[in-house]
Amino acid sequence: MELEKYIRNVPDFPKPGIQFKDITTLWKDPKAFKESIDMLYQRYRDKKIDKVVGAESRGFIVASPLAYLLKAGFVPVRKKGKLPYKKIEVTYNLEYGTDTVEMHEDAISSGENVLIVDDLLATGGTVGAIIELVNKLGGNIVEAAFIVELDFLKGREKLNIPVYSLVHYSEE
Ligand code: AMP
Repeated sequence: MELEKYIRNVPDFPKPGIQFKDITTLWKDPKAFKESIDMLYQRYRDKKIDKVVGAESRGFIVASPLAYLLKAGFVPVRKKGKLPYKKIEVTYNLEYGTDTVEMHEDAISSGENVLIVDDLLATGGTVGAIIELVNKLGGNIVEAAFIVELDFLKGREKLNIPVYSLVHYSEE
């Protein structure tokens, strides 16, 4: 199944010059949605993943069913001010703007095997921040997984961990 066929390109969203890869068109298709989650499950099923960390908000949509299948826990990384309990935070640069993300300080125990999941890897700023959060809590990062990777932004080169993506775009 060619998953890229289900991804819609929206020019100039959310601002001029950005080619937004809209994955809602993949998620609304029952077979494509299932295929994307199943492919990730097959890759990680024997990796003894303890926690799947998902990035707000589109990352939740990929991370939650994957955590369920892997019999792992799900950990949300959220924008500043959303999580209720004691937390740790990191500020980072986005392809469009800056942001601060938070995680509960007790979300991951030292030595746990962690899979980081988001919908799309662009500059790597978001995942770089999540890696910092997981490292602060002593988690063992197995890999970061994405539906889409924008190869031309070279996000993976900035990340010191293994990266896996289902669909690659070599140019805008
Ligand atoms: P980055 O931190 O630059 O890797 O950006 C990743 C986050 O921003 C992901 O969670 C995406 O949802 C979103 N994002 C950045 N660029 C795009 C794009 N061209 N199309 C769709 N989503 C994007």
